[in-house]
Amino acid sequence: VSVTLSGRELAAQIRAETAERAAGLTAAGRQPRLAVVTATADQASVWYVRTLARAADRAGIACDVTDLVPARPDRPESQDATVEGIRVALIALSENPLIHGIVLQTPLPGGARLADLAGDIDPAKDVDGANPVSLGRLMTGLPAFAPATAEAVLALLDFHQVALSGRRAVVVGRSAVVGKPVAQLLLARDATVTVCHSRTVDLAAVTRTAEVLVVAVGRAGLVGPAFVAPGAVVVDVGTNATAEGGLAGDVDPAVAEVAGALSPVPGGVGPVTTAVLLRHVVSAAASPSLS
Ligand code: NAP
Repeated sequence: VSVTLSGRELAAQIRAETAERAAGLTAAGRQPRLAVVTATADQASVWYVRTLARAADRAGIACDVTDLVPARPDRPESQDATVEGIRVALIALSENPLIHGIVLQTPLPGGARLADLAGDIDPAKDVDGANPVSLGRLMTGLPAFAPATAEAVLALLDFHQVALSGRRAVVVGRSAVVGKPVAQLLLARDATVTVCHSRTVDLAAVTRTAEVLVVAVGRAGLVGPAFVAPGAVVVDVGTNATAEGGLAGDVDPAVAEVAGALSPVPGGVGPVTTAVLLRHVVSAAASPSLS
């Protein structure tokens, strides 16, 4: 039976520190302010933005939602935002000195790529590490905001005192928002990192070499007990909606019988991600340039 890598206590700790820093900035006449841009009427995204705005409010961070979509299910005649409309909004927010952090919410309208559009977010305000410049800076060791989810994985490992230096880490998934930045952050911490993806041959053989295994694919239960070496530390980033309206990870819960430690879904990486994002907003407000 493995240790549970819960994210709730860590998230509460980050939120408390963030709220304290936000209060200090507000008292100095500089309330941290996050802008969230939504470009489609995707229901999961609408729910997430509401959750984020509430969390920001509780931390004393102002949150402006720029809704570029007049479309809602009850107003079916309206349409998704245009790429040009999104770019204009991101440029205006980047230039607005009252805004400290900018998040462009996904999914984007058909055909639009986050990596293209997020290039218009000032890297100093890119609190979810979406601008390709942020990922490039991260890779070269320059100050940058990492995507909140990727940083949350590392924060969770640190909180539970998982050693990384010299250890064999395997990341499953190579997206620019999770897999690649997680691999980069592990490398920066002196782990020996392997990255797997949909073309990896004999995935289980590779993941069994991991002392630390991070899974970010988006397929419920993909990683079963046969994928995990006895005693390995497993972080499950996956969030898959279940038919019952719940949330399932990418890792089969039966892995707990093999692993030394396993993060739960929900209650693992998820709550830490939101807390890290808000911490980034406060950091951006405290020092508005990436020196
Ligand atoms: P994504 O952009 O769809 O990327 C998925 C990655 O998984 C791709 O690199 C893909 O490989 C790889 N993959 C797909 N099928 C595979 C298979 N059978 N074997 C091995 N690799 C496979 O997804 P994402 O945005 O990175 O998100 C991944 C998961 O994390 C999702 O469940 C998402 O909901 C969740 N997530 C959670 C949080 C949080 O806060 N907890 C935040 C963000 C995302 P290819 O590159 O070869 O296609």
